[in-house]
Amino acid sequence: MSDKFIHKILIANRGEIAIRICRAASELKIKTVAIYTHEDRFSLHRYKADEAFQIGGDNDPLKPYLDIEGILKIALENEVDAIHPGYGFLSENEKFAQRCIDNGIIWIGPTPEAMAALGDKLSAKSAAFKANVPIVPASETPLDTFEEVKEAVDKIGLPVMVKAAVGGGGRGMRVVREAANLKTLFREASGEAKTAFGDGRVFIEKYIDDPKHIEVQILGDNHGNIVHLFERDCSVQRRFQKVVEVAPSVNLQEITRQKLHQYAVDICKTVDYSNAGTVEFLVDKDENIYFIEVNTRIQVEHTITEVITGIDLVRAQILIAAGVELTAEKLGIGSQEDISFRGYAIQCRVTTEDPSENFKPDYGRLVAYRSASGFGIRLDAGNAYAGAVISPFFDSMLVKVTAWGHRLKDAADRLERALHEFRIRGVKTNIPFLINLLKDENFRNGNITVNYIGNHPELLALPNWKDRGTKLIRFLADKTINGSPDVKKVDPDFVFIDAKVPDTGSETIKSGTKQILEEQGRAGLIDWIRQQDKILYTDTTFRDAHQSLLATRMRTFDMMKVAEPFAKRHGHEVFSMEVWGGATFDVSMRFLKESPWQRLRLLRKAFPNTLLQMLLRGSNAVGYKAYPDNVVREFIIHASENGIDIFRVFDSLNWVEAMRYSIKVINEETNSIAEACICYTGNVLEKEGRYNIDYYLEIVRELEEAGAHIIAIKDMAGLLKPKAAAYLVKELKKATNLPIHLHTHDTSSIQSATYLKAIESGVDIVDVAISSMSGLTSQPSFNSIVAMMEDDERGSGIDLTSLNEFSDYWERVRTYYYPFETELRAGTAEVYKHEIPGGQYSNLKPQARGLGLEDKFEIIKKNYAKVNELLGGIVKVTPSSKVVGDMAMFMTSNNYSIEDILEKGQTIDFPDSFKSLMRGDLGQIKGGWDKSLQKLVLKDEKPFTKRPNDYLAPLDLEKEYAHFKEKYPALTERTDFV
Ligand code: ADP
Ligand code: MN
Repeated sequence: MSDKFIHKILIANRGEIAIRICRAASELKIKTVAIYTHEDRFSLHRYKADEAFQIGGDNDPLKPYLDIEGILKIALENEVDAIHPGYGFLSENEKFAQRCIDNGIIWIGPTPEAMAALGDKLSAKSAAFKANVPIVPASETPLDTFEEVKEAVDKIGLPVMVKAAVGGGGRGMRVVREAANLKTLFREASGEAKTAFGDGRVFIEKYIDDPKHIEVQILGDNHGNIVHLFERDCSVQRRFQKVVEVAPSVNLQEITRQKLHQYAVDICKTVDYSNAGTVEFLVDKDENIYFIEVNTRIQVEHTITEVITGIDLVRAQILIAAGVELTAEKLGIGSQEDISFRGYAIQCRVTTEDPSENFKPDYGRLVAYRSASGFGIRLDAGNAYAGAVISPFFDSMLVKVTAWGHRLKDAADRLERALHEFRIRGVKTNIPFLINLLKDENFRNGNITVNYIGNHPELLALPNWKDRGTKLIRFLADKTINGSPDVKKVDPDFVFIDAKVPDTGSETIKSGTKQILEEQGRAGLIDWIRQQDKILYTDTTFRDAHQSLLATRMRTFDMMKVAEPFAKRHGHEVFSMEVWGGATFDVSMRFLKESPWQRLRLLRKAFPNTLLQMLLRGSNAVGYKAYPDNVVREFIIHASENGIDIFRVFDSLNWVEAMRYSIKVINEETNSIAEACICYTGNVLEKEGRYNIDYYLEIVRELEEAGAHIIAIKDMAGLLKPKAAAYLVKELKKATNLPIHLHTHDTSSIQSATYLKAIESGVDIVDVAISSMSGLTSQPSFNSIVAMMEDDERGSGIDLTSLNEFSDYWERVRTYYYPFETELRAGTAEVYKHEIPGGQYSNLKPQARGLGLEDKFEIIKKNYAKVNELLGGIVKVTPSSKVVGDMAMFMTSNNYSIEDILEKGQTIDFPDSFKSLMRGDLGQIKGGWDKSLQKLVLKDEKPFTKRPNDYLAPLDLEKEYAHFKEKYPALTERTDFV
């Protein structure tokens, strides 16, 4: 036979092996023709070939690759000389081989006769038997019925393996150890074989206990020469399927290896085998050898043999098919003695299977794909590139990575390194599992048998790869294109200009109130406050100011830049910094994705000299509903440990019962200060009003008795007018010896007058915000109050120039948050009518907009006042203010008047928050809720009579925290955002 020259090869395959064949052909200067299905139209094998043709219709992703006549048609129409079938698909189909030959096309593979004789597992066994090769005892013919199977099993003896008569890839195989399971397992194997290969027949084989899988690579030419290229160890398997392969084998006696080689060659000689083939054996612990099957084609793991022998198997396949002799100079393989190997090679198959989900295939787009390279690394990739779509129709193998090393462990180290170098994002891969395996001592020492993975579940314990980069890029892309649902208006022309932090370079931290608390304790600090003639300030810039002006959106990042400089300049001059509480928790977790705890710890570190203060809703802590007492307790202790010195405790209904427990915990379990609030509403000057002086004095008495260290007047809506302030402070001073702390919002723009009056009446501390973050719904301006007090005997001599520098910083920072600015432009006296608190006012408009009620904002405000009236005038601060707001919104959108509510109430389904208020979820008011209103809203539901907390069972905090950590890992683990 003389050599035929091959000009053009059609590759009847896809993916990595198609590309592999292209490469070999290309080196031989042979043109290539690819076929691809519609589903594969973007796959790389199509583009690597010189020509490519779609095969099948647009709805047929896979089957056309099995279409013998369709493929032949393309070959014949395009002057193809030879067809390479790759592995899988039609590669072991002798009919296809025959059809090629019938059409004058060279089949790159063994003859159809050899394929028929060795490709079938049972006939291969008889060939082996003839060649005196030990085989696994087995039934001699395919079996159809259970009776036949039973008979064969009785002859062979348990345990056995039930195997599909045709097919492979580990499918249709079951191990039977007990007779009782035979029927079920036979049915399973047979059913699986029927679905996968269209043939439900099986055969029975003796089960070999935990062997190694060793296979020998064979190469034969068309001139009767057959050589082996040594063996591969494919014992690393999952469910009878190869995962990682090694060449040569490790830890087998030389004599065993030589027997294997000889057996393989002997079997192939019986059929005058040509081209590439693999003879598979099982080798048990005593190194008994059992032939199992021949694969009459190139195999996935052929790369490792190429790497250790230096012989290009696919090139050899092509040349052999063209008639070239093994010993010919053109092929250059020579005879058996000329073939040698060096070192060790390992191949692993990187698949898009999720090892943590039992290797379930994962699909989707590869958002990133970067592969490894370097000395001793060979890559055979299929359709792996950034942007590639992994489709469920095809094999999940992305790339084969082959590493060579002088010794097995060198190859293992190199392969592990290469796998670490990979960056594959968008789909899960088995890489973490492969790395575990490569590190495994038994693997590195060649002690693996086929059951190893199954018996070592620890290999599946995978590190949690966080993939931060991809998450970040996805987030940025999403926000850049789609914007944030939270940010309604964006100005594309807005320019972010750096805010200048006042330079405090060499200045140092001076001791302040924090040191007084530390050194003299709570009583010492309270005494110290009493002794001060000067007015003391609490700076709310880090909390209430931006809560009121910017919907609490200020990021820790912007605070931290200026925190320490401010601590150096003014930390010792202010009484405290309000930095936490209120909406801090909700907003930082929900919108900013920050850990509020971390913010607290960072601020604590930045302000070593100043008391840090937070706002705490008595029985709700920082939530919006009542929590079990153990949650509130743990929260307070934890907050104190993390840096809170002063807890400003309040109840939205001024219900002392709801505050008592928190105050007790602060007293008994922390060294922090309990500053208890009276929430101010109405007008204290109205002697007959519900909120007259007696009302407040009674609460103060109760709070003092409950253990409060400071009394705060929390004027959250800015209703406390100057004269009322003078009166209230004076009366409180008479009634209690505790320091008085005044908090207000400047919605009406006259609250500096209120402060002046309060200061004249002896108030101890007032809440202020740095000038550029002050005014309107925020607190009065720190800078201006300092200026006002410059001429006053209670003035405290804080450096105004420096304060103004800080104001410049915040002025700039504030612009970054422009989408969150409230729409209130000027002070308004309306607040005395609607009594909407500062924080709520800035949220109400967006809420109304969300409900499509923006044009009815005036009505909403009126309804707000009416709902308040309906309730007999209640204290309105989160969460009670929200209830009133919800109800006002509800009335507006349904066009209800108060009369409608009272008349038709029985048929109205009230908003949940309103029902919850009436039920007593937020607590009680003095004299209790209006019984008839309760009945109207709750219908037959029974209201609470005790604290809502009393109805709640304690939470298992450990468990809750574990849940939380799992759900929000970023909020518990993150440490790196500043
Ligand atoms: P396939 O056609 O799927 O390649 P094989 O017959 O080559 O099927 O077997 C695949 C794997 O199944 C083997 O490597 C081995 O792990 C296991 N296996 C097959 N036959 C036996 C047997 N008789 N005893 C024990 N294990 C077996
Ligand atoms: Mn096999």
